[in-house]
Amino acid sequence: MRDYIGPATEVVALAGQTVTPGLIDGHLHPLQGLELTLGVDLGGITTAQALLAALREEANRAIAEDSDPWVRGWNVAYDVFRELPLTAAAIDGAVLGLPTLLILFDGHTALASTEGLRRGGITRARELADTGVIVTDSGGVPTGELREMSAYEPVRLASPAVPRAEVLRKARALLWELRSSGLTGGCIMDGGAATLDLLTELDGGPGLPVRLVTAIDHEPGFDEERTLANLALRDNSGKRWRSGLVKLYADGVVETGTSWLFDQDAAGGGIEPFWRDMEAYARTVSRYASAGFQVATHAIGDRAVASVIDAYVRVGSLSRSGAPHRIEHLETMADRDVARLAATGITASMQPLHMQHRSADASDEWSRRLGPARAARAWRAGDLWRVGAPVALGSDWPIAQNDARIGLAWAMLRRRPGDVHAPVFEAEQRLTAYQALHGYTIGSALAQGDSDLGIIAPGARADYAVWAADPLAVTGDELAQTPVFSILGGDLSERPSP
Ligand SMILES: [Zn+2]
Repeated sequence: MRDYIGPATEVVALAGQTVTPGLIDGHLHPLQGLELTLGVDLGGITTAQALLAALREEANRAIAEDSDPWVRGWNVAYDVFRELPLTAAAIDGAVLGLPTLLILFDGHTALASTEGLRRGGITRARELADTGVIVTDSGGVPTGELREMSAYEPVRLASPAVPRAEVLRKARALLWELRSSGLTGGCIMDGGAATLDLLTELDGGPGLPVRLVTAIDHEPGFDEERTLANLALRDNSGKRWRSGLVKLYADGVVETGTSWLFDQDAAGGGIEPFWRDMEAYARTVSRYASAGFQVATHAIGDRAVASVIDAYVRVGSLSRSGAPHRIEHLETMADRDVARLAATGITASMQPLHMQHRSADASDEWSRRLGPARAARAWRAGDLWRVGAPVALGSDWPIAQNDARIGLAWAMLRRRPGDVHAPVFEAEQRLTAYQALHGYTIGSALAQGDSDLGIIAPGARADYAVWAADPLAVTGDELAQTPVFSILGGDLSERPSP
């Protein structure tokens, strides 16, 4: 490299360190996540008593400090509600009667207090365009449990909005936080016109801290006008971001019985797709694909995965730009579909770190509902590698930690990093360090159609992660702790030292 050093060259000595391609988080919600993570992080709370104490403390704080006090909380575990009813009545006392919205860890389910329901105008059940449900008691009165965003959005919108300047400040801070675990890019799996406005603003001046591709959401209830408005957003882009991807849902989540399975779950759920009419889903895929969009679909259950593959095969598995269409999550899938992903080149975009909510004795809601046979076919990253199917890895932040090292470690270990006695889930599905790094670099790059990212090669963009130790030569436990920093496209101006 010495031959290339000129008078204007800044030399960064990396003696003893390892340079890899910059990491790309294949699936995250950095901007929507800021909305969903307002209030207190209730992650790690496993008992009703601890939850109620945390809510009371937040209610007291809100009353003392806020002009329009609300209790907002996120990252709540489903298992807390095995000893506490998932109802407004169960939390009304703890929140001192304040309007409250608690979002469970996966973002698919929320619990509102009685006052929260009232502020959101939720007085009875009503038909929603997707599988969202306003749960009611036998008298038709909403209980407070709101399944899917379509059900809880009115309550969220009724809570105080965050000022624009604050949104921009928090978004910048979050995107810089991504850089600190070696990430130089990511794929935003939600979005609309407002997301693009925000990205345009954040991309001003020195540019976004990470390169982003953003999806545009299309929900089952969208009419022709909204569909046309979405289609018009295809080519929006800036210095370090672009659009061109549509995000659809084929199901919900296992824990509430809204994932779509071939056979019902242990509680009788899992039998309905997100769309009331899956033909309408297939037509929507076709509409966006023929308009030149790449298509990403959330599919967690085995039947959802199979149906999405069917719909993609009908339109051709590659988008017009050459990027394969992609499936998000694939928490459990059939053998036949492992083979079909390899045959079609459709990308499996997975987040193995979502396994952290499973317990060793399979008593958690996810394991109980699926049962042992289907749980044994969970997050089949190893099987997909062995048959040559494209695999991209990511975090789904704020659903799980955005530190890419934790995501890499879970893909390698299939257990909690740093705890050698923690249960290992499906050891045969563990990825090697190389395979995990591949999923977080070139795998995620190709998944979004970027052949000049995720690799170190002449002509590729110079986005790098610099590691204090060789990430291919350490264990997953060590990797989760290895200092790293990232360099974006040769821009060294804000380079932190490891
Ligand atoms: Zn997501």
